[in-house]
Amino acid sequence: MRKILIAGNWKMHKTSQEAVELINGLKRELADIQTVDILVCPPFTNLSEAADIIIDSNIALGAQNCHWEKEGAFTGEVSVPMLKSVRCTYVIAGHSERRKYFAESDEVVNKKIKAIKDAGLKPIFCLGETLEEREENKTFSVIETQLTGGLKDLKQDDLKDLIIAYEPVWAIGTGKTATPQQAEEVHSFIRKLLKEKFSSIVSDGLRILYGGSVKPDNTKDLINKEDIDGALVGGASLKVDSFSQIVKNSLG
Ligand code: PEP
Repeated sequence: MRKILIAGNWKMHKTSQEAVELINGLKRELADIQTVDILVCPPFTNLSEAADIIIDSNIALGAQNCHWEKEGAFTGEVSVPMLKSVRCTYVIAGHSERRKYFAESDEVVNKKIKAIKDAGLKPIFCLGETLEEREENKTFSVIETQLTGGLKDLKQDDLKDLIIAYEPVWAIGTGKTATPQQAEEVHSFIRKLLKEKFSSIVSDGLRILYGGSVKPDNTKDLINKEDIDGALVGGASLKVDSFSQIVKNSLG
């Protein structure tokens, strides 16, 4: 049985004071929830203070990105050991905005996933097709290429804590959600690939989140699909009410 995970990706939002308000509000609203895993991924600047607030709570902390080296002359970058030192337990790798605006290739995403795993943190590996690719019927081949490239050289045991987030690029921040059927179709395809490339232990156990304009009113229909194990939420994770309601609507 895969436990539902609802993750909030705050992207480049929230000053220090705003972040403290949001995290305190979520802690208050979600204090009783035990059957769903809850994760927030604030910007780097808010991680330490968020960690102090959610200590001993049911909310986990993640980062939105990392560098693959442990340390070095990489101005402006943040390494996985640094994220671990501020109590992050999850790190997002390969978000489509990183791929698009910062030219992250599958090879770079692969290095990041390995660095996250090697540090004992949980990678959230994002993949998804653009609108153009979907319209050209390339969705499955794009997903296969991204999955194969992102997981290159990894073995079954390396995927123990890995989470995949299927995020169709055309649904991110656009208000257009994939229908539950469209999402399920890709999720079950990803699970089939995982079985072929690794094993049924991996494909049965690994959580696959959906991301792309998830809101309180579409959460239940998405989560009810067999292969959808949670959500990666952007815009709607920025307010206490909407994120809390998404978490509550995902309860079985
Ligand atoms: C995201 O940032 O991963 C995302 C899915 O954003 P939104 O929910 O705003 O579409």
